[in-house]
Amino acid sequence: MKVSEMFMATQREIPADAEIPSHQLMLRAGLIRKAASGIYSFMPLGYRAYRKVEAVIREEMDRAGAQELIMPALLPAEAYQGSGRWEKFGPEMFRLTDRGGRSFCLGPTHEEPFTEAVRDTIRSYKQLPVTLYQIQHKYRDEKRPRFGVIRAREFVMKDAYSFDVDEAGLDVSYQKMYVAYRKIFDRFGLDYTIVDADSGAMGGSGSQEFMVKSEVGEDAICFCDECGYAANEEKAGWTRGAADNAEMLPIEKIHTPDVKTIEELCGYLNCGPEAFVKTIIYNIDGKFVAAMCRGDRDVNETKLGNLYDATEMELAAFADVEMITGAKVGFAGPVGLKQKIDIVVDPEVAGMKNFVVGACESDYHFKNVNIGRDFEADNVADITNAKEGDICPKCGKGKLGMARGVEVGHIFKLGTKYSKALDCIYLDKDGKEHNMVMGCYGIGVSRVLAAIIEQFHDDDGIIWPSIVAPYKVMVIPTKTNDEEIMGLAEKIYNDLTEKGVDVLIDDRNERPGVKFKDCDLIGIPLRITVGRRASEGIVEVKARAGADASEMTADEAVAEALKI
Ligand code: ATP
Ligand code: MG
Repeated sequence: MKVSEMFMATQREIPADAEIPSHQLMLRAGLIRKAASGIYSFMPLGYRAYRKVEAVIREEMDRAGAQELIMPALLPAEAYQGSGRWEKFGPEMFRLTDRGGRSFCLGPTHEEPFTEAVRDTIRSYKQLPVTLYQIQHKYRDEKRPRFGVIRAREFVMKDAYSFDVDEAGLDVSYQKMYVAYRKIFDRFGLDYTIVDADSGAMGGSGSQEFMVKSEVGEDAICFCDECGYAANEEKAGWTRGAADNAEMLPIEKIHTPDVKTIEELCGYLNCGPEAFVKTIIYNIDGKFVAAMCRGDRDVNETKLGNLYDATEMELAAFADVEMITGAKVGFAGPVGLKQKIDIVVDPEVAGMKNFVVGACESDYHFKNVNIGRDFEADNVADITNAKEGDICPKCGKGKLGMARGVEVGHIFKLGTKYSKALDCIYLDKDGKEHNMVMGCYGIGVSRVLAAIIEQFHDDDGIIWPSIVAPYKVMVIPTKTNDEEIMGLAEKIYNDLTEKGVDVLIDDRNERPGVKFKDCDLIGIPLRITVGRRASEGIVEVKARAGADASEMTADEAVAEALKI
């Protein structure tokens, strides 16, 4: 391809709304173009790289025995009503109505249609196991679309679904996908971690996420250096300390005017945040719940949401908090609530004695509060985040560390959740009916592309790993009006084209500096510059990832390019 003819939209300026390197670079290098918040076009260069990502994923899926098909993205409501997810997805689902008044959605994920397809096709255990997949657009009206294609509202996912006769079969299918995922992310050269994950809205018995390590990652990962435990913060457990055996002291109401933060309260009472228990009131699908955790901890909303099988969950509005507590916001506590609401305490809180809480009265706190004597907890459950230095929940010895990651893949053991809901059964050898046992496996194809850029870039631009580079080689003639230079550049370009190498030639009448800059920005792995020594047949070769250029003959340069 000649750069002069290429539909290339590189930008010099960093767009203001692009906060992270991959998003900035995808826009600057002209890989994507924004259509609306969280909705992007892939431009020719970006689409080439995207297709290479897709090709690797497809190859490994096929190799693992999964069969590709394609489902509609526009799906009738009935498909999701049977499983209850028509309601469960809430506002994240894009919904629409046809001219006849029938409801549809744009598929956010396809468990239901795959389950229906298998239900209607397979009768006997002899036809199992089977794993099916597609690479297709998904639609989610994300609350906060951001970071370009990392959190988009229209994005491409490879989604696979396995169907087995029993749990043991599922284990085998799951393991095959696990291995395939490792191969895929290894082939991209990504630095990633596999973590235990929350199963979220999908239900099911176990799941793991593939996290690309990155400071800009939206997910926090907890890991134990002693035993290798690694889990998404949403899911990560931690070992609570021993329960306090102290005597219960008499409860005391204390005047705490103008105290707005936990730090101020600690200063006022001359104690640490560990002596305090926060009471945070949530609105979970219209029901109010008070979640209690120690003053130095945070409520884990995923864990709390799972406890209530939440569809929509948010902090209760100020007015609601004031109504429930009868006090200004900031003085909520479990004693003296004006309305009976569920109180959930973390096991750590359950082990505490004589703690401080808000008094449900403006400008007052209670001291020496105790569960069982002063209030009852409706539920004791793990509802807090682990933090750095906590004891590992697995080995009980190591300390947890924290890192950030971008989730690029997610594998789930679904079990029979969908096959029960949608009546997906097979007959065993005695003619008895059973529900199929399912797994599901997703990779964010467009997100992977961004994650690769996030890990492979420098100040000048993208540094594509060769396997996904839109073009592998750029030939740069330094002068386009010099016959010798153009002649040799074109010879190299033609040679490489004939040999099947994806090669570009920058035949624009631009200064070499401009061409080098663009070549670096779009991340082409190898640059062959044809300049002042063209008459001797000598060119300059530089790898995008390397620091130095070296001179060699044109044939040697071609040989070098073939190695990429
Ligand atoms: P997240 O926690 O990031 O929202 P998820 O748990 O909702 O992800 P899954 O439903 O497991 O994601 O989807 C499978 C894969 O699809 C994810 O691992 C991720 O790579 C990708 N993905 C999910 N949501 C988006 C999105 N909004 N934009 C781009 N890719 C996404
Ligand atoms: Mg999501």
